[in-house]
Amino acid sequence: MASAFTHVFIAAALGKAVSPEKMPLRFWTLGLFCALLPDLDVITFRFDIPYRHMFGHRGFFHSLPFAFIVGLLVVSLAFPAVQRFSRRWWMLAGYFFAVTASHGLLDAMTSGGYGIAFFSPFDNSRYFLPWRPLVVSPIGVYGFFSRWGWNVITSEILWIWIPTLMFLVMLTLFRSKLRRRPPIVP
Ligand SMILES: [Zn+2]
Repeated sequence: MASAFTHVFIAAALGKAVSPEKMPLRFWTLGLFCALLPDLDVITFRFDIPYRHMFGHRGFFHSLPFAFIVGLLVVSLAFPAVQRFSRRWWMLAGYFFAVTASHGLLDAMTSGGYGIAFFSPFDNSRYFLPWRPLVVSPIGVYGFFSRWGWNVITSEILWIWIPTLMFLVMLTLFRSKLRRRPPIVP
């Protein structure tokens, strides 16, 4: 995995990017939950399911089809007042899909472990991105207070946090510029 901080950071950044207006608390809490959700699959180690198995760590629960199902489920269950298949409904479903999928993408940029089964259950091959600048994060809290933890955080700040913050600043400037533009009078 990438570190939990970075998964959560991406959920918050994506939330800001897709929705500049004020959103309810459940939007943010569910976004953070979806960003971390795929790693609940580490529980499969306890059931002796091998890492490379379809339901093993970084298997189906890190895939794009799983993220798609999560997106549809979260918007249907947590936002019942939003009209189904309306523009706003798809925006919310897209957000929760993107946050869940971002987890696997970040993991696919890490230097260790097996790859991600992006297309499971249709294809259970494991994939990494061709560019893997992130140091893989230790599973569990204790490994974090070490040289390894430090290398994880610095690689994520450099390659994920700084570019994402720069993108958000540019997006905010662009939006405020659009808002300030005088209306076109025919
Ligand atoms: Zn993961």
